[in-house]
Amino acid sequence: MGLVGLGKIARDEHLPAIAHTQGAELVAVASRNAAAEGIACYPDLTAMLAGQPDIDAVILCQPPAVRYEAACAALLAGKHVFLEKPPGATLSEVDALVDLARRKNLTLYASWHSRYSAPVAQARAWCAARRLTRIAITWKEDVRRWHPGQDWIWEAGGFGVFDPGINALSILTEVLDDQIRLIDAALHIPAGRAAPIAVDMEMATAQGVPISAAFDWRQTGPQIWQIAFEAGDELYLFSQGGDDAAHTAVGAESTLTQEYRAMYRRFVDLVRSGASDVDLAPLQLVADACLRGTTYITERFEDME
Ligand code: NAP
Repeated sequence: MGLVGLGKIARDEHLPAIAHTQGAELVAVASRNAAAEGIACYPDLTAMLAGQPDIDAVILCQPPAVRYEAACAALLAGKHVFLEKPPGATLSEVDALVDLARRKNLTLYASWHSRYSAPVAQARAWCAARRLTRIAITWKEDVRRWHPGQDWIWEAGGFGVFDPGINALSILTEVLDDQIRLIDAALHIPAGRAAPIAVDMEMATAQGVPISAAFDWRQTGPQIWQIAFEAGDELYLFSQGGDDAAHTAVGAESTLTQEYRAMYRRFVDLVRSGASDVDLAPLQLVADACLRGTTYITERFEDME
């Protein structure tokens, strides 16, 4: 495998997960400003493909806005492709990649790491056994703590608070079998930025179950990543720890580490079986919020106080 975009998630999770996966080996990295020790390093994907013609797969960990060109180049060179989440900056570009992968007989994997945590399967079983009455997503974190200096995240195609929020939507769309419809949204964009710092979404299932989502990046103090599934008087509270590393016992793997290991097992299986896995439901909801929602310009916001 060759990996492109040696940033935070590549170092924290991809490199260790690849090292842990049977059937996977990282032989090259392409990054403009970073290098990995003990692995062939290239300034970009083109140089990596030329220097390592034998790699079977390319892992794309750059920001979503620049992934399409790289994915095309990798598929055209005959490589299987693993896309970090969100899989692209638009629905149409990911559709085009699906089509290209199919024509080239290659695997395209749009990864959604949050779907691989154990409570997702539990929530799915809980919801399947009940008649749901309401779902409320609260995803509130401090952008200064989790995304310091990531300028791309505030640019067009960078997703803003949808970057973490789409994780909640990936869980929601995995837990429910029902179609989910976007009804309305409010997007709060700081003056001078292109992407939202907070978003409120109103959705509903085909059965009419109301779903609300509140994403906010201005949360200091306790960080909240939770989804409340209600069925009459009963409540299933899904909560996920982005800072779970702090709560993980010494020697145990954090939830995020378990998710990435599971994704690499899935990717190897997909490649071996000649299949692809691209579910665009979470990206569709984000796109619909941008299409249907009202934009409000809020006060300027700087990453560093
Ligand atoms: P990051 O730390 O900013 O790393 C992205 C890397 O991509 C950069 O270090 C940069 O390396 C490369 N890159 C290539 N073109 C770029 C461009 N035009 N602008 C900026 N960087 C560019 O970001 P990250 O946190 O790893 O996130 C990358 C992706 O992983 C995002 O889609 C994110 O949603 C996803 N993700 C992140 C986390 C997390 O905890 N951080 C968790 C799960 C998923 P060079 O400058 O060396 O080329």
